Amino acid sequence: MEQETLLSVKDLTIHYITDDGVMKAVNGISFDLKKGETLGLVGETGAGKTTTALGIMRLVPDPPGKIVSGEILWNGKNLLKVGKLGMRAIRGKEISMIFQDPMTSLNPVMTVGAQLSEVIRIHEKLSRADAAIRAGEMLELVGIPSERMDEYPHQFSGGMKQRVVIAMALACNPLMIIADEPTTALDVTIQAQVLDLMRSLREKFGTATLMITHDLGVVAEICDRVAIIYAGQIVEQGTLEEIYENTKHPYTKGLFASLPDMSSKAHRLHPIKGLMPDPANLPSGCPFHPRCDHARPECARRTPVRTEVTPSHFVNCLLYE
Ligand code: SF4
Repeated sequence: MEQETLLSVKDLTIHYITDDGVMKAVNGISFDLKKGETLGLVGETGAGKTTTALGIMRLVPDPPGKIVSGEILWNGKNLLKVGKLGMRAIRGKEISMIFQDPMTSLNPVMTVGAQLSEVIRIHEKLSRADAAIRAGEMLELVGIPSERMDEYPHQFSGGMKQRVVIAMALACNPLMIIADEPTTALDVTIQAQVLDLMRSLREKFGTATLMITHDLGVVAEICDRVAIIYAGQIVEQGTLEEIYENTKHPYTKGLFASLPDMSSKAHRLHPIKGLMPDPANLPSGCPFHPRCDHARPECARRTPVRTEVTPSHFVNCLLYE
């Protein structure tokens, strides 16, 4: 049975207008997220992943940021038309966000129990005592004994702090979590534990997740579908299997080739030559053409359109049009 679409981002364009010019951070991004699924938004630093997430949450600082065009349909309503109060009710209750640095979400001078209770009380009509009980339950759920409720964030390790943030994000049982590089700051073993936790909680609560990452290893662990983003555009989108086993776009192929080859002693890396373009000065035509080994003259003149490989797999590259 086809799952219900929860979030539908259509042609989203976000620019930052600065004294140095117009930074074209997000340039016509479209994707859907269905109930309970995990979509990986994957790309290098500066590709526009975080700006897309902030756009959905309506947290793009304006000025200098401007949502130039597009639609963000959430449960049938266009978030770009929802007022400040309406968005405040949606954030945390319907959509939660987890950032790379847990201290973005935690208050250093409040105990973790008080912070969790506060989040619960803002969105749910619970008494102080009931909110505290719920806070304790949420901590247990992420593997932290509820006796640690009265401790402050600095008393927790990095991985434990991120667990507290996950508990806060899930406290009001949101329909969707946006996780922006949630494990990047953690060491590898802890990363695996936090991803395991996120996976088991997703199974338990059925929460949809938009996983923002530069790490194809994280994607393989947790995502159902993948959207590869370059210079503020999605260049390839498909199921996990389609992207990993039937890679089409030269940029996606480059990302895979730049992964360390664990099976080889030499750990050969083939980084993609060149750098992500300056968003204030994007190349004409296909934005990847200055770095692409397959580029031909037409690539600098014409922007590729979305081309269907299968009904669930799309690529924006002239090679496939
Ligand atoms: Fe490379 Fe041309 Fe395809 Fe862009 S459109 S990825 S430059 S082959």
